[in-house]
Amino acid sequence: MKALVLEKDGKLAWREHELRVVEGWYRMRIAAAGICGSDLGRGFKGGAYHYPLVMGHEFSATVEEAPTGGKYAPGTLAAVYPLLPCGKCTACAKGFIQLCERYDYFGSRRDGAFAEELYVPESHIIPVPDGVTAEEAAMTEPAAVAYHGTHGFTLAQGASALVIGGGPIGLIAAQWLRIRGAGKIAVADIDPAKLEFARHFGFEAADTGGGGAEERALPEYDVVIEACGVSATRTMAVARCARKGVVSFIGNPADDWTLPMALFSSVLRKELTARGNWNSVPDPDWREVLAHAGKDLNLKDLVTARVPMAEGAAAFRRILNHEGFHCKTLLVTNH
Ligand SMILES: [Zn+2]
Ligand SMILES: [Zn+2]
Repeated sequence: MKALVLEKDGKLAWREHELRVVEGWYRMRIAAAGICGSDLGRGFKGGAYHYPLVMGHEFSATVEEAPTGGKYAPGTLAAVYPLLPCGKCTACAKGFIQLCERYDYFGSRRDGAFAEELYVPESHIIPVPDGVTAEEAAMTEPAAVAYHGTHGFTLAQGASALVIGGGPIGLIAAQWLRIRGAGKIAVADIDPAKLEFARHFGFEAADTGGGGAEERALPEYDVVIEACGVSATRTMAVARCARKGVVSFIGNPADDWTLPMALFSSVLRKELTARGNWNSVPDPDWREVLAHAGKDLNLKDLVTARVPMAEGAAAFRRILNHEGFHCKTLLVTNH
């Protein structure tokens, strides 16, 4: 088969690549696969576990060939949960597969979906309901990560929310908070184009105190989602959280973090709750995404580019060179 192969750091090529056959798994034909921010580090900043590697962990695919006794028929459109838990560690034993200590992962630790085909186990096939497109289904993974980071805590109806980071995960997180009943939802980002894009989804730009607003107190929010992962935004998340509020961290950290004493004191004085989030789980996260997609969860408009998978290398280049505006780029096959 053909695949978009990461041959070494910074070198992607659409070429012949051996499909890894797994007995008892389904042979899936990839429909669409999203480029994730993590793929930029993985493919272009020395972040890969090994070479050659086929990246791609956000994807939809159709069953091409089912194993004997498999319950899904050829032609079934599915979203595929990319994390393969070991099934033996303490986390797995407790049922927290997303926290597995020795997990495998499509598109990072093993070959993924920037390819024509991929073998996947039945347990990871999540059939897509009628009315949800293959492109929307390819967004299930980031939407589920955003779901994971915006649930599991109480949120009063009409509560205010701040989402720091206007990328795909941030904009989906903001939508989940709206679905949960949040009132005012603001998005913060240093990129004005991302704030403009956020407005299209009905979210206002957060007041970040720029423009000579010296001593003015900035608004605080009942829930703050941190979806950037740098120290400045983590500090901002704590500073802008209201009394009894929740700070939910989704952004993968890119640096160390030091909190000034007065701000840490505010964690106590405001009785803040800090939450860490890692990955997503098929149930409820993935199930909920597919139940809401195309209804009150707008995934379609996050897709700013659809590129034939064979031209994937050029798509990566455009993102890395900041050519034009990008939210989510999907690599699509002509299957
Ligand atoms: Zn991702
Ligand atoms: Zn495990």
